[in-house]
Amino acid sequence: MKLSNDTLSQLPQTIGRPSYDRAEISPGIVHIGLGNFHRAHQAWYLHALMQRGLAMDWGIIGAGVRAADAGMRDRLLAQDCLTTLIELDPTGRSAEVIGPLIDFLPVEADNASLIRCMAGSAIRIVSLTVTEGGYYQDAQHKGLDLNHEDIRHDIARPDRPRTVFGAIVEALRLRRGRGLPAFTVQSCDNLQGNGQITRTAVVTLAQQTDPELAAWIDQTGAFPNSMVDCIVPATGPAEIALARGYGIEDTAPVTHENYRHWVIEDEFCAGRPPWDLAGAIFTDDVHGYESMKIRVLNAGHQVLANAGELLSIATIADCMKDPLLADFFRKVQTAEILPHVTAVPEMAPKDYLTLIEARFSNPEIRDTTRRVAYDGSSRHPGFVMPILRDAVRSKGPIDGLCLVEALWAQMCTGLREDASEIAPNDPDWETRKSVAERAQKNPEVWLQQSQIYGDLSEQPGVVERFSYWLSMIRSQGCRAALSEYIGH
Ligand code: NAD
Repeated sequence: MKLSNDTLSQLPQTIGRPSYDRAEISPGIVHIGLGNFHRAHQAWYLHALMQRGLAMDWGIIGAGVRAADAGMRDRLLAQDCLTTLIELDPTGRSAEVIGPLIDFLPVEADNASLIRCMAGSAIRIVSLTVTEGGYYQDAQHKGLDLNHEDIRHDIARPDRPRTVFGAIVEALRLRRGRGLPAFTVQSCDNLQGNGQITRTAVVTLAQQTDPELAAWIDQTGAFPNSMVDCIVPATGPAEIALARGYGIEDTAPVTHENYRHWVIEDEFCAGRPPWDLAGAIFTDDVHGYESMKIRVLNAGHQVLANAGELLSIATIADCMKDPLLADFFRKVQTAEILPHVTAVPEMAPKDYLTLIEARFSNPEIRDTTRRVAYDGSSRHPGFVMPILRDAVRSKGPIDGLCLVEALWAQMCTGLREDASEIAPNDPDWETRKSVAERAQKNPEVWLQQSQIYGDLSEQPGVVERFSYWLSMIRSQGCRAALSEYIGH
């Protein structure tokens, strides 16, 4: 049955669905980068509130600033913006249809509709999942990369911006002109200090064209930091077939694990839904939670995914089923990552690692090594480098972390160990591939990519250990290197 408002009541009884009247929802949030994760996470929290008759004035309007988002818009509008969420619990799957998304804006090169909508008084939160690479961070200065072509474009043409930040600045300029207050910009991406990074990006961009506006945004806007957590695989034919198995024709269903966590700084300048009533945590100390999650889960994903790709292992759960990879994961985590993780009130780092091992091992989740290994150019500097830097600073062990980097360098040659080709897997794939090829003869050139590694190549032991592992992977294969590291 084709998913739509009209067919909701005909869905099989076992499938959850909105108990609220969707016609009663009014908009409050614009979400930019409406992919899979947002629907399984933030939108689900809102759905849970709406099921209780709450937050009906916080409906979500979807948006995207990239041409590829138009496809998602078409798919979702054709099904009244409804989404089937399929929870992949190892003890049994379940499905529910959620409805807090009420519209999806046209995707346009000049973002005119998006700006117009964000400048309207109804919008009180603009939230983002635009991926780690979508923040245009300059790795050297930890600020906005003012030399990036897209950012340069937005400085030259602030009225026709290409980027999320350009669109937000323009909408805030219009609001200020109309005497409307600023909205909260809420990043839901996996970046440590995501709120602060977003504030810096928006305010820095505004400063280039209108310093007074920049000061107004900085003083009256809000950019809460948050930690988001729920593993949400990409959707392909298998996921669409899964929805069909429930009798639902949904062209954009979302599968997700049976775990969700959301910790948010309570800093909203124009109100917010009571997400805590649906299980989110509001706290002044997001940093501890996000640091633990980014280091154990997100860096942990990088520990597995590049090795998995090289060994033609399709999913993270399959990696965890491989005894050598599971031992490698555990040793890097316990010896080299956990020493740089601080406990949070509910959980000690070693208990969090046990939880992550169970979540990564969930055989129901087809989270591909390809998806997890995508955009290493953002993910290695964002997730792994802060740990390596702490390890170097504290003179702790770095051998496993250098091996992780060597595995990434080898993956970027574009060939698996069975000689099959790895399709481009990074926004900057051509550059990574060419450096990876040169590094085969001269390993240190990989670490000299200063936009990724900063000055790490000058730190004691890093070049030596990285070069050792890369040579071994090249001459004896990935498994030989992993075995030597774990001492088999
Ligand atoms: P997705 O591929 O389904 O959607 C990504 C969205 O980001 C798309 O709308 C895309 O157009 C947009 N985007 C990409 N680059 C952009 C750019 N430069 N500027 C503006 N928009 C850009 O991915 P997803 O699963 O929804 O994940 C998105 C993000 O959510 C992740 O990168 C991560 O930060 C966060 N997240 C995801 C998961 C997960 O398991 N999928 C878990 C936690 C957090």
